Order: sequence, then C-alpha cells, then structure tokens
Amino acid sequence: MNSLSGDSTNVPSERNSELIDDEDGTASTNMDAVDGNEEATKLLKKLKTKKTRDIQTYKFNLKELEPLRKNFFVNTNPIDPDEAINFQVMNNIFINNKSITPVMNFYHMGLDAETISVITEHFRFKLPTPIQSQTIPAIMTGNDVIGIGKTGSGKTMCYLLGMLKHIKQQRPLSKGETGPMGVILSPTRELAIQIHETCCEFLKVNSMNAICCTGGSELQKQINDLKRGVEVIIATPGRFIDLLTLNNGKLLKTDRISFVTLDEADRLFDLGFEPQINQIMKTIRPDKQCVLFSATFPSKLQAFAVKILHKPVIIAVGNKQVVNENITQMAKVIDKESDKFNYLLNILGKQPEHSKTIIFCESQLQVDFMNRRLLGSGHSPIQIHAGLSSNERAQNLQKFKKDPNANILICTEVLSRGLDVPEVSLVILYNAARSFAQYVHSTGRTARGNTKGSAISLISSQEDLQAYILYKCMKQDELPDDVKAIALKFAKDLDSGKKKISAGYGGKGLDNLDKLRDETEQKAKLKLGETETTTTNETDHEDEDEEEVKDPNLDIVYNIQTDSVDKGDFNAKININDLPQDIRWIASNNATLTKIIEQTSVSVTYKGRFYPEGKEPEAGEEPKLYLLVEATREQQLFDAIDLFKSIVVSGLKKATQDRSGKFSM
Ligand code: ADP
Ligand code: MG
Repeated sequence: MNSLSGDSTNVPSERNSELIDDEDGTASTNMDAVDGNEEATKLLKKLKTKKTRDIQTYKFNLKELEPLRKNFFVNTNPIDPDEAINFQVMNNIFINNKSITPVMNFYHMGLDAETISVITEHFRFKLPTPIQSQTIPAIMTGNDVIGIGKTGSGKTMCYLLGMLKHIKQQRPLSKGETGPMGVILSPTRELAIQIHETCCEFLKVNSMNAICCTGGSELQKQINDLKRGVEVIIATPGRFIDLLTLNNGKLLKTDRISFVTLDEADRLFDLGFEPQINQIMKTIRPDKQCVLFSATFPSKLQAFAVKILHKPVIIAVGNKQVVNENITQMAKVIDKESDKFNYLLNILGKQPEHSKTIIFCESQLQVDFMNRRLLGSGHSPIQIHAGLSSNERAQNLQKFKKDPNANILICTEVLSRGLDVPEVSLVILYNAARSFAQYVHSTGRTARGNTKGSAISLISSQEDLQAYILYKCMKQDELPDDVKAIALKFAKDLDSGKKKISAGYGGKGLDNLDKLRDETEQKAKLKLGETETTTTNETDHEDEDEEEVKDPNLDIVYNIQTDSVDKGDFNAKININDLPQDIRWIASNNATLTKIIEQTSVSVTYKGRFYPEGKEPEAGEEPKLYLLVEATREQQLFDAIDLFKSIVVSGLKKATQDRSGKFSM
C-alpha cells in the first residue's frame, strides 16, 4: 500500500549515546539487566553500536492510502452558541473555533456503553472536566487539537476517549497486522506507565491491546507483544524510534497509525525531543490526526506545533481570552441615576472628535429616554431599537457608519449584534451586562479587526450578578476593587447554592440545561401569545421582541477555521428546510438576504433543495435546503447570523400581527 522510499533519515548524533537509554538517562548502564534475554541483548547491542539510527521514511501517496474516518462526532444534545459562550466564560476557556460547542455530559459524546461504564463505574467520574467538555468534541470532529490546561485538569481522558473512538471507526487490525493504530508519546517512563494503565481499562472492554514501550523496560517483551498485534503504543520518543529502527523497520510498521498524541508536550519539548518527534511524524501518514496536550504553551512549542499539526483547534482552559484582547475593559460602580448620567456626559466629553461611541441601554424605552437626555445636553445621538421600522433602522445605521459627525449610537444589546463599525472606539454598557454572552457581544462592537477599543460598564452596588460577570471577564489588574468585592460575595452565594446563574452552566450537567431550555421556550411561546393581545402596551411589546431575538431556534452548523484574526474559513449553514413555513418564507425572502449582505458584506447562497416534512434525502441526493453564509472574518459571520436571527424574528412577529392569527413554533 505504501511505497517504501528507502530514504534514510538520521537522528542527530548527540542522542546516539542515549540510544537505548531511558528518557531520564538511567538505563545506559543496565544493558544486560534489561531482560536478560539473549535476542534482546543482541538487538540492544546493535542499537548501541550503530552510528546513527536509520528510520525508514515513507513516501505516502494519499490516493493509495486506506481512507480514514475522522469526523464522526454526533452531538446528541447540542447547545446554542450563547450557552457555549456562558460555559466558556465560566470556565475560562479559550477556543479558536467557535463552531465547536462544549459537551457537558459523558452520555452526550456518542460513546458506547462499555466505555461509559468504565468512566462512570470504574473511574467513577460524574461529569467531564471543562477541558474534556471542550476538547473531546473537537477531537471527535476530526481536528488536530492543541489542549492546554493545568496539571490535574483531566487531559488524559481527553485524548484517550478521542483516540478510542477514532480507532473504533477504522478498519480493525486484520490477522497478521501488528498495528498500532494509535500512538501516545510521553516525555517520561513514569507518565507512559500511568497512561498505559488508564488506557488499558478502556481497551480491555473493547477487546483491544496497548503496550507501553519505554527505555529501560523489557525490550524483548515489547517486541513479542508487538508481534501479536496492538492497537495502541504508549512510548517515550527515544524508545519508539528504537522500535522503528529494529529489523530495518520491519518490526514496527507505521502504515496503520492514524492517531498520534503528544502528551505533556511542553516537557517533551524541554527535554529536547523535538528532532525525534519530527522523525517519528515523517514515518506516519500525513493525513493522520494529531493532538497535543500540555500544561503550558510557550512560544517555542507553538512554532513546533504549527509545523507538525494541521489547522489545529486550540483550546486553552484557565485563560481569560473570551473577550477580545484589544479591548481595555473598565467598570464603575455608581448608584444614583443622576450621578450615572453625569458620569456618562463626562466620558462623552472626553472622546476625540471623530471617534465613535455606542451606548447600550436595557430597553427601547431607555434608548428613547437616553436619546432625549443626550439631545438636551447638546449631543446629536442616533438610535436603533425595535420600535423603529427596519427602513429607519437601516438609515440610522448608515448614518452612524458614514457621517463623521454622527458619533454616538444608542441601542439595545440585541439589535446591535449586526454592527460592524470600525471607528467605534468606545462602548458604554449603561446597564452592566446580565449574561456572559451579552457582555462578550456588546463589548465586541469595538476593537474590530486589528483596532483597539475600550468598554466601560456602569453598575450599581446591588447588581451582583453583573459584577460577577465583569469579574470573570475582566483582567485582574483592570477590575476595580469595589466590583471585585461585590462579585466575590456573589461567588460565595453561588458556591453555597444561595444564588444561581443559570442551571446547567458551569458543568452542572445538561439535564438541568434541557429543563431550563424547555422552560425558556415555553415562556417564549406564552409571551408570543400574550403579544397578540397586548400589542398596545409598548413596553411589553418591546421586551418581547428582545426576548425572542435571542433564540429563534435555528439549526445552524458553523464551520470556522481560524488561522488568525482575519484569515481562514468562516462559514455557516442554516437549515431552512425544516423551519416552519412562516419562518422559512421570511428566511429565504430576497429582502432578508439583501439586507444581510448589505449590512455585513457576507455572501449568502441557497444550497440543496426542499424536502417536505417526513422526507429525508437519500444517499446521493442533494442535501436539504440550507443557506450558506460565507464571511471573510469570524466576527462578520457571527454578525450576519445575529442579524439574520433578528430579521427572522421581527419579520415573524409582523406577519403574525398582520394576520392576527396564532403562531405556533
Ligand atoms: P492532567 O493530565 O491534566 O494533569 P489527569 O488526566 O492526570 O490530569 O487527571 C488528573 C486526575 O483527575 C486523575 O486522578 C483523573 O483520574 C481525574 N479525573 C480525570 N477526569 C475526571 C473527571 N471527569 N471527573 C473527576 N476526576 C477526573
Ligand atoms: Mg497529564
């Protein structure tokens, strides 16, 4: 299948003295003590006296290789992007591919019953740790992954479960095939042994085998085990190369290896294993899946990772990067409304002439009120809220974007989501955000692209949830002491169960979350019913609008591959086919698409064809009708989707009111 090129590549000679050493350098004296076996002793001697270690390098012809199945993840209980943001902020998770949402329960990872029982009965784990929630779906969707999390965060399980599932998706080893299919490289013998023990718990219930190959341990036994066929090898890099070179490369074949893990990559790197790993990688098919786990991610390791991984999804837990780094975050505790407004005037007075500011208010009424107050104070603000017609909103937005003298925009959080105005250098949350997602989206209106910006939240001393959100999102040196004090009190109440953020977030399990979602949906439906009878009540109507814009329940599959801020693939597929007819009509209407394209500069195309309810495409048929949204930047894509949602919801409401009929979702 593979054509062996016969190339030989040399490992740097300074490592030769350690040829058969343990990676900690202890084994060089115990050649005979290795296992006392004659054949092994001979092999070891041969290794020791060889000037360089020759590794057979395969030249792979991808077309001739057995196909690999890498993307097989079925999230049996997906959460929406806002819930994902909540989970990520609560757990300080950074991920460069926002389309991969965390999975909060082992039961929702598509694992088989045997594997689940090892997790829940043998190891007695109840819930995945944050790094497990986020990296496992990333691995199971076939990505190369970099997982960074402090020691003890549960990284082993991330790659073991990912690897196990991967191996089970491939053709099993046939008679005579030695494997392995998965390789785990560890910097030390002790760690390799520990990983091997854990790994075996999972493999044995699946009738698979793993061997642990480290220097200083019984080579002959390793050789014998290997000959019998193993699915997984856990090894230190030096010993793995030893095995690769034995018998001119005929002992350890690499043609079935398709999943490689580098555990404790920072230590592998510190210990100088980079050349070995490079060598090893060259012997393995290039379309393999490779994951790297590490406690830290120094820049040298980053450069190395870029070389050996393909478009990796980077996940770092314990990292406060959810809010754009280019935003200076500020917060101010003010209780009296008049003081708050004066403070606002003061800030506005200090802004450079042509810089733009967005002020977020809680409701349409407040936007209106703020507009009048600012007009009265000599400013000329522009407003956008749900009470304006879509034409007026578009005009106002255009004015804010194009007119250099229009430098203040007042709006509600929900309606701002489509905004991309590069000149915005300041965002003021007149009422501090009440959810992580709201905070991330609102502050994200500034520092667009590579520009910098500031965000100021105004908060009262009673607003403890809001303080907690700031505490979790702001850098410690930016966080004012008084906000921190309020937040810490709230955190204590959270711990003691006296207060709750939202059931299910922060690793409380999806069961709660499901319940919460059902309740929210129920509430939204009820509210929609009420709207039809209370449309004369402006305030209710408006809150209403905002409530639903948040969750029009669309089925969206994101595909985001971030290389840098504005390089990569950013697209999303919105399932139109399965929407109720009202929504489908609005979603696919030309005016909607034109508006999205105009306001966010994405490209939107129809794909697939319509299948009536109950009918599914057969193999080879076109997929169900969907909209493909393609952007050149990640934020642009999110903005387009947000705008799309808000158009659908407001259009739907209008249609409902026009018909004065009942709508049911
Ligand atoms: P790391 O590699 O990040 O240092 P490990 O994978 O060695 O961490 O795990 C640290 C400890 O946490 C181990 O004792 C492991 O059994 C335990 N552990 C792993 N996952 C979970 C979980 N989901 N729930 C509870 N304990 C876990
Ligand atoms: Mg570890």
